[in-house]
Amino acid sequence: MERDEYLERLEATAETPDDLFEHVEERSTAGRTHHVLTAARHGVERGTVIVEETETIVRGYPSIPRVLVLDPGVPSFFDDGENVVIEEKLDGFNVRIAAVDGEPLAFTRSGYVCPYTTGRARDRLPLEDFFVTHPEKTLCAELIGPETPYSTHDYEEIDTHEFRVFDVRDRESGEPLSVVDRRRLCEEYEFAQPRLFGRATPSDAVGPTRAAIEELDAAGREGVVLKSGDGERLVKYTTETQHHEELAYAFSLPFDHGRDFVFSRIVRDAFQAAEFDADDDRLEERAHDLGESILRPMVSAIRAVEAGETIGERHTVRGDPETIGALLEHLREQSLTIDLESDRRADGERVLEFVKVAESSRDRIRYYLDGGTR
Ligand code: ATP
Repeated sequence: MERDEYLERLEATAETPDDLFEHVEERSTAGRTHHVLTAARHGVERGTVIVEETETIVRGYPSIPRVLVLDPGVPSFFDDGENVVIEEKLDGFNVRIAAVDGEPLAFTRSGYVCPYTTGRARDRLPLEDFFVTHPEKTLCAELIGPETPYSTHDYEEIDTHEFRVFDVRDRESGEPLSVVDRRRLCEEYEFAQPRLFGRATPSDAVGPTRAAIEELDAAGREGVVLKSGDGERLVKYTTETQHHEELAYAFSLPFDHGRDFVFSRIVRDAFQAAEFDADDDRLEERAHDLGESILRPMVSAIRAVEAGETIGERHTVRGDPETIGALLEHLREQSLTIDLESDRRADGERVLEFVKVAESSRDRIRYYLDGGTR
């Protein structure tokens, strides 16, 4: 198929195919050539994949804007007549599962086919049944739990990892199902979904959202995504615990995360404090926690490098030996340095603990510890 036909099918706003295709990277995965959009451009989402062999387009997942204050952020984001649905936002990683030529594949946000996630999705979800009836749909899910190769947030109710389907979209246009239809369809196939806190008109949604955030914060969970009933408009808002957890993570690998990452989390927390923390004691407590989430992890990182330990993101994964092998290869292809910490068998599965080595942080900390100057 010609490039201008793809431009048309994508409904891209680019004037010429080259305008769009200059941001497209060619990758070879699962035995096929995939063209992947590496950044959101011309109305097309980052991670959008074109599989030329089968002429399939798998649309990327859209970026979700964030409000920094609930009032008036929420009522002004939605239109007056809209019905707002409050759903839990889970902390894992975004997976799009789509059937390419009948074969279900799990794409990461940036458009890689992850062999591990694909294997787990096929094991844990009734994908064959679903795609026989809905071949043109994409399941958008979060893979959560302590044992995933990309995220580490713990959920009390999850021992290893599980999928939660938070959206079902048209594979090519990205058009979502309404929240009601999606929840019903997921129930039909027994796909687990994020918790639904309730529905409200935009002007009445602030109170229940705040109550949901307080409950989630107390439970150490991430936050909410508010959705218009038709599933088209999404906005997110997160808890104090989440802001501090992400800061602690960034400062545990201080020279691997951009300053924007850190600054944006502090800004979120400051706006939340201004809106929520009416009394001084509450603000004092937040300030204390914020400081701890910055200083303690960074001091630990310095001490770890001093002691000659590896620093980086630690992950545990389990699965059949072939899939685990393919995952390691997949991570190394992305130029990550992987240190294996343990490799064992349990109940016929290979269980691997590894570290994605944070080389920039390790090297910079070492340099300063050796007396280097800034
Ligand atoms: P952006 O949305 O701007 O690209 P990001 O990649 O940093 O930002 P997050 O801040 O984590 O992403 O927020 C969006 C992600 O939240 C979605 O891509 C999805 O993976 C995840 N998510 C978790 N729960 C839900 C939910 N209930 N509804 C929609 N998305 C959810």
